[in-house]
Amino acid sequence: MSEQLTGLALLRKPFPDNQISKLPKPYKKDSQKGNCKECGGYHGLPAVHLSYVGHAALTDRLLDCDPAWTWEPLALDDKGYPVIDGNGGMWIKLTVCGVTRLGYGDAQGKTGGDAMKERIGDALRNAAMRFGAALDLWHKGELHVEPEAQEPSADEKQAQAAKLIADWRGKLEAVTHIAQLAEVWRTIPKALQPLCLETKNTRKAQLLGEPA
Ligand SMILES: [Zn+2]
Repeated sequence: MSEQLTGLALLRKPFPDNQISKLPKPYKKDSQKGNCKECGGYHGLPAVHLSYVGHAALTDRLLDCDPAWTWEPLALDDKGYPVIDGNGGMWIKLTVCGVTRLGYGDAQGKTGGDAMKERIGDALRNAAMRFGAALDLWHKGELHVEPEAQEPSADEKQAQAAKLIADWRGKLEAVTHIAQLAEVWRTIPKALQPLCLETKNTRKAQLLGEPA
């Protein structure tokens, strides 16, 4: 029987797959669009898919944790509107179970009415991350809900990939039980598993008390 989490502990619970959205990010801005087998969408291919928790799923979780959760802008201007900083971003205060933490969101290049909604959703995700919500997803890579975002340079991509692999290896090395090892292993993306295999086998041997 799994223990029933509530409140702030529940906020940290990993989101189920059906609440995780995939944001396709084509490797090149001008790549040809096509039907994607991975996400079922129509976008530039090939693309990497970033996992993120959308506004609705996050709101659902916040309500489960604390039906009285609330957020407010950190500051209001003299007309009573939320203050938007010089970078188009907004600071918010998110309060869950009586605990308040700050978050920051921007419009990810959107304009008009959608810009404010994007800012709010982005700020809520950012603030909720400070409570540990969907932390595992943030950890895997920078999340920006903006398909037109700047493509990272080859060096940046390589550095990101190296960090990702180092992170997964670190997680494998940190486990203290063989069942936990299998659990971590299952969460490692298939494409990265071969690069972490040696670390896993070494840790497995250590946990079983056998020579590696
Ligand atoms: Zn796709």
